[in-house]
Amino acid sequence: MSDCIFCKITTWEIPSIKLREDDNFLAILDVFPNTKWMTLVMPKNHYDSDLFEIDDQEFYTKYLLASKKVVEILKKWLWVNRVAMVMEWMWVDHAHIKLYPLHWVWPEWEAHRAKQEIYFDQYEWYVSTQLWPKASPEDLQKIADEIKSKNWL
Ligand SMILES: [Zn+2]
Repeated sequence: MSDCIFCKITTWEIPSIKLREDDNFLAILDVFPNTKWMTLVMPKNHYDSDLFEIDDQEFYTKYLLASKKVVEILKKWLWVNRVAMVMEWMWVDHAHIKLYPLHWVWPEWEAHRAKQEIYFDQYEWYVSTQLWPKASPEDLQKIADEIKSKNWL
């Protein structure tokens, strides 16, 4: 798409800092990082941002393997223990995976745990991997029953 900023990046019309490239995918450092070495992995061809609407098993496989290779770079060369992968695609309507290096999570990961409890009733332009507060089994069952009642499963 001619007006897509990521298409312009994959064709080098807009410069970026490349970490890795193959025939189908490009990995660049995000220019708006909220985490050191935050990286974007995007297909060179334009795909809409909601990956779950794409019905192409070969694309999924190649995309995840390309992302895995970038994670290996981050882990090996930048001494990152773990990397989180997010696919929310809210900013640019061109499929992209966001890789967040999880710095210093080992061995004292509990010491770095956030003190603030977060729970979202709506999307607030970011996600969290915190695991609290704990939901009751009854509340979880109500949600599962509601989903099943709609024959979504
Ligand atoms: Zn695009």
